[in-house]
Amino acid sequence: MDVVFLGPPGAGKGTQAQRLERLEGLVQFSTGDLLREHRTAGTPLGRAAQDYMDRGELVPDALIIEMMEGELDRTNGGVLLDGFPRTVPQAVALDALLARKGRRPAIAVLFDIDLSLIQERLEGRWTNPRTGRVYHERFAPPRVAGIDDEDGGPLIQRDDDTAETIRKRLVVYREQTEPLVAYYRGQGRLYSVDATQPVDVVSAEIERVLHRRTGERRA
Ligand code: ADP
Ligand code: AMP
Repeated sequence: MDVVFLGPPGAGKGTQAQRLERLEGLVQFSTGDLLREHRTAGTPLGRAAQDYMDRGELVPDALIIEMMEGELDRTNGGVLLDGFPRTVPQAVALDALLARKGRRPAIAVLFDIDLSLIQERLEGRWTNPRTGRVYHERFAPPRVAGIDDEDGGPLIQRDDDTAETIRKRLVVYREQTEPLVAYYRGQGRLYSVDATQPVDVVSAEIERVLHRRTGERRA
């Protein structure tokens, strides 16, 4: 089974993807993390993406689709996609890519959350840039401020988690990514979870969705 995590920035997709990877054995891809790695490495893609990312805009579809074709071509088995697709053309490209690999269409898990909660989630987010692991200064604090519990590495606040860029990213979400809700719903592939609940409760809800879906596909 292949799974897409859909929802606004700050809804908790990365948090849940990291937990589920351990539980369900799905290989996780976060397009945001991949693009940040390209930037750090100074690749042509990283250089092409940086201005868009800094402005809170989407990187052009062609670049993202090419990157994800490369990543997915190297994997076998189920994947968990966090932050991709983010536009309808990206979703169409993903469907074609999975079909080419002989896989069934991915299901989408929508992280349902009121956009008014996002500012607080993102302004308090701290990330380990090496592993992508995220914390929140109030909702999920590390044992020692600024230090990752797992590997002891430094935590940073992302440059695009500022009030102004968050506002822009939410407009972009509404205009370009939200249409995917109708896309997946229209094809009977959308499952919604209440992303305002505590992390453990959201995880349990997602697991229920995945197990139900596995049962449906076997039936
Ligand atoms: P996304 O990947 O969707 O952008 P993240 O997983 O990075 O979102 O979560 C954004 C911030 O919100 C992080 O600081 C994270 O610790 C926090 N967070 C995630 N899920 C929850 C939750 N269910 N309740 C409260 N805070 C959460
Ligand atoms: P994220 O880490 O998911 O919040 O993504 C950070 C930034 O990376 C976004 O604001 C976009 O600029 C870019 N990005 C990530 N995924 C995509 C995508 N699927 N399509 C276009 N841009 C993306």
